[in-house]
Amino acid sequence: MIKGLNLTQNNSYAAIDQLKELENITRELEPGSTARKEIMEQVTGYVDQFIEVLPGSQAYTKMECENLRGMKFEEEGKPFNKMLNILKTEVDQAGINSASGKHFGYIPGGGLWSSAVADLLAAAANRYVGIYYSSPGAVIIENQLIRWLCSIVDYPAEAHGNLTSGGSIANLIALKAAKDFHKINSSNVKKAVVYFTEQTHHCIDKALNITGLDEAVLRRIPLNDNFQMDTDLLKGTIEADMQDGLSPFLVIGTAGTTDTGAIDPLNLIADICEKYKTWFHVDAAYGGFFMLVNELKEKFNGIARSDSVVMDPHKSLFIPYGSGAVLLKNGKRLLESNSHKASYMQDSYGFDEISPSDSGFELSRHFRGLRLWIPLHLHGVNTFRANLYEKFLLCRYFHKRIKELGFETGPEPELSITFFRLPSDNGNVINQKLLNALQADGRCFFSSTIINDKFWIRCAVLSFRTHLPEIEMALEMIKENLTKIN
Ligand SMILES: *Cc1c(COP(=O)(O)O)cnc(C)c1O
Repeated sequence: MIKGLNLTQNNSYAAIDQLKELENITRELEPGSTARKEIMEQVTGYVDQFIEVLPGSQAYTKMECENLRGMKFEEEGKPFNKMLNILKTEVDQAGINSASGKHFGYIPGGGLWSSAVADLLAAAANRYVGIYYSSPGAVIIENQLIRWLCSIVDYPAEAHGNLTSGGSIANLIALKAAKDFHKINSSNVKKAVVYFTEQTHHCIDKALNITGLDEAVLRRIPLNDNFQMDTDLLKGTIEADMQDGLSPFLVIGTAGTTDTGAIDPLNLIADICEKYKTWFHVDAAYGGFFMLVNELKEKFNGIARSDSVVMDPHKSLFIPYGSGAVLLKNGKRLLESNSHKASYMQDSYGFDEISPSDSGFELSRHFRGLRLWIPLHLHGVNTFRANLYEKFLLCRYFHKRIKELGFETGPEPELSITFFRLPSDNGNVINQKLLNALQADGRCFFSSTIINDKFWIRCAVLSFRTHLPEIEMALEMIKENLTKIN
C-alpha cells in the first residue's frame, strides 16, 4: 500500500455518463470486423480494376476536378464509396497518370503493387521506427536496407545512411553533413566554395538555401559536349579560387542528370576532390540503381570514392512516391550531423543498432523501409536488375527509331533518358506545337526542356510497366501527331 493513495473508488462521478456518451462517438474510429471487410473488399476491387485497365488508360488527361472542389468536411461521416468514387473520377484520372507504362515525361514514377500492400501493413501496425528500442524489428529492416544500398555503391562497412521521403530531403541531409564536417559557419561561409553544374537538380539550390550555403561562393562549372561536368575547368577553377584565398569545400556531381541522363566523370572528379580535400557528393537520385546492371555499372566508376550519395527508390526501383535515400561513406559524419540528445528520450539510449532519428532529421515518421523490403524479398533483386536493363535498351531503341523518323536527337542515351526535336529554323515554335498535340492526345505523356536555347521533347523510360509495346505505341503516336501539325 503506497502511503497517501486512496484505492476505494467512488463511481458516482458525473463524468461517467458523459464518458459513456462520448465513447459511443469515439469508437467510430475503430470499425468492426464486418465493416473493415466491406471496405477492404471495395479497396481491393478498386485497385484490381485500376491495374487491369491501366494498359488502355490515358497517360495524360486535363481535368478541372469540379466535384472534388465542392466536397466539404462535415460533422457526420460519409459512406466509404463516396470517397472512392471521387478518387476514381477526379483524382486517379486527372493530370499525369504516373502509374502508366506510357508515361515518358519528367522522371516516370513507379508504384509497385507490392509496395502498396506493404504500406497498408506498415500503417496498420504503425510501428514507431524512429528509435531502435521502440521497434527493433522495423529498425533492423531499415538498417539492412541501408547496408544493401551501401553495397550497391561499394561503400565500406562504416558507411551509413537514412531512408528519406525523397531525393530532395536526401540531398539536404548530405549537404548539411558536408557543411558540418567542414565546419562552415557564419564566420567562414563567404570564403567557402561549392562547385556544381547547370544541369545539377534544382533541389540542390533549395538545400544550399536551407543550409545557408547559398551565402558561399557558388560556381557552376560548364558542361562538355556530352552534358557532363568539364573536369579540366573544375580543376582550373578550384586552383584559381585557392590562389584567391577562397576555400573550396564541396563538389556536387550528378550520376544521371534529370534533363539528359548524363553521368558526370565521377573518377576524375574524385581525383580532384582527393587532391584538394573537398567533400564529393554524388546526386544519383535518378540514375543510382542502374548500378545493379552489370553491363552499366562501369559508367558509375568512381562513385565509391565519393563522401555521400543520394539514390531514389521511388525512381529507379519503381517504389511509390515517398522513398529516397542518402548514404555517407563515413557513417559517423552522418550521426555527428543529426544526432541530438533530449531528456525525454533518455529511455532510448544505449543500444548498438543505429536509430533512424540519429541519421536524419525526422523523428516520428512512416515505416518506409517496409515498402522496399517486401518488394525486394518478394520479387528478388534480379527482377529489378532485369527491369533496369530493359529500360536502358528500350530507350536506346526509341532513340534509334526516332532518329530514323527524321528527328534531331541528343547523344546516344547514357541511361534511359533521350531527347528529340523536329529540325527546323522555326524549331522552338514547331516543337512546342508538337508537344501540345502529344499532350492533347494523351495516350502517351511526354515533357519538354530547353537545352542550349533549343526546345526539346524528352523521352524518359523508367516505368516498370514500360515494355516494347509501349515504346512502339509512343512512336506510332508521334507519327500520327506529326501529320496533325503539318
Ligand atoms: C528527382 C531528382 C531529385 C529530387 O528528388 P525528389 O525525390 O523528387 O525529391 C534530385 N536529383 C535528381 C538528379 C533527380 O532526378
